[in-house]
Amino acid sequence: MGNRLVRSYLVVAVSAAVGFLAVPDGSTLQVVWQVTCGWLAAAMIVVGVRRRRPAAPLTWWLIALGVAGNSSGILVERLLLLVQDEPNYPSPADIAYLSLYPAVAAALFLLVRRRAPYRDWSSLVDATTLTTGMGLLAWIFLIKPAASDESIGLLGHVASVAYPVGDIVLLAMTVRLMLSGSGRDISFRLLCAALLSFLTGDAAWAVVNQFGWEPGPAAHRVLADIFLVGYLLFAAAAVHPSVRSLARVAEPRSGRISRPLLAALTVASLIGPALLALEALRHQVTDGLAIAIGCSTLFMLVVTRMSQLIRQLDTQAEKVRELAVTDELTGLPNRRAWNTELPRTIERVRRTGDPLTVAVLDLDRFKQFNDAYGHPVGDRLLKEAAVAWQDQLRTADHLARYGGEEFVVMLPDATVGEAHEIIDRMRLATPLGQSFSAGLALWNGSESSDALVARADAALYDAKHEGRNRILEARPEPAVV
Ligand code: GH3
Ligand code: MG
Ligand code: MG
Repeated sequence: MGNRLVRSYLVVAVSAAVGFLAVPDGSTLQVVWQVTCGWLAAAMIVVGVRRRRPAAPLTWWLIALGVAGNSSGILVERLLLLVQDEPNYPSPADIAYLSLYPAVAAALFLLVRRRAPYRDWSSLVDATTLTTGMGLLAWIFLIKPAASDESIGLLGHVASVAYPVGDIVLLAMTVRLMLSGSGRDISFRLLCAALLSFLTGDAAWAVVNQFGWEPGPAAHRVLADIFLVGYLLFAAAAVHPSVRSLARVAEPRSGRISRPLLAALTVASLIGPALLALEALRHQVTDGLAIAIGCSTLFMLVVTRMSQLIRQLDTQAEKVRELAVTDELTGLPNRRAWNTELPRTIERVRRTGDPLTVAVLDLDRFKQFNDAYGHPVGDRLLKEAAVAWQDQLRTADHLARYGGEEFVVMLPDATVGEAHEIIDRMRLATPLGQSFSAGLALWNGSESSDALVARADAALYDAKHEGRNRILEARPEPAVV
């Protein structure tokens, strides 16, 4: 049933948007068509909320209100033209048109807060960068001229400034939404498409007005159709079944900057210098201060983003360093860590003259254990043994997983006798009724770390041969003088 609703709506919406291009420009039918589309979209949003029961329904009520208000503006404008030759500016139609901005911006604010309730500074900085760049453009070409136009009176100023300011706020919220989390299903895309078509329509009109073009009837129809498509897309987002998950908490973005985003950020950051260059070429730098403020803001934002990325990189590098020396299963230092730690300790005891004993230990008949209880239980034994053994060690001792079911222990400041006692405590603490065999070797004052471990390993080999579950000391190796 859900899909039938979407399909029927899509047929009506596409016919409405395409059919509009055939409606004579300036005709009453055109006005009726536009207003009907807007009201239909608002009604469909209400249907969507009723049927789909999305989270944060207020978002959709606000969007419905904005769309209904905006499209009603077209009707009000036409009615005013019937009674007045030259309607005042601003007129009630402007209030209706403008109502979309606060309604939709508030809706997006609510939605973003639901989707990304966590702190997402990088998205905030990116959104602010894009908005600042566009805001500077809007300030110079739209807001400042509107504010200084002396022909329109105070309310006229307010209305003329409100349109571009509304667009910038809407743009900021749209970018925030697009950068909020990583869940992007169909309803999300439709909503973004609706917002972008609305903003494109406004931007197109801004360009047309800026250059003083008079769009012909066909161009006029296309421009008006962009807004119509916007209305219809809002409703499509509301009736699509995926609207239910739209307000769900979305996974945070990875913090990485995608290529399109990087391109957009670059363009936004270059708007200021480009405007300055344009004014300089015309030998008329009239917006120096605005450009300086805009550029400084953008510069600070870029620096902030850069430091965020560097901090993120540092954290990741730290994590990678840690992973490289940690055994995944037991959390103990791994063989790589051991291979750097042992030579370091040997160098230290060479200077201090303290004794250093190394033990190599290997679980007894671990293959049998695995075969009897299964590999996962074998893994559990390794993990629990690591914890139990660690408990028996002194803080100066260093236990590492050498590989498989083989572990190594470094016992600085311990003679073979003391080390024997400690390792024996470990043997008795082995969980699940298991045991290990171990070989011990006391550093002879000159041998390499490899030779020291090899001697302990040979003693382990003997321990296995003598029946396992025991600790043997390596034959002392005379130091080479
Ligand atoms: P021995 O007493 O002679 O040491 O006999 P053993 O069975 O312990 O020795 P062997 O070298 O024949 O077998 C070692 C077994 O350890 C084989 C392998 O499946 C198991 N093993 C190695 N690494 C892991 C691991 O990470 N998890 C589990 N569950 N088993 C492992
Ligand atoms: Mg073994
Ligand atoms: Mg082994």
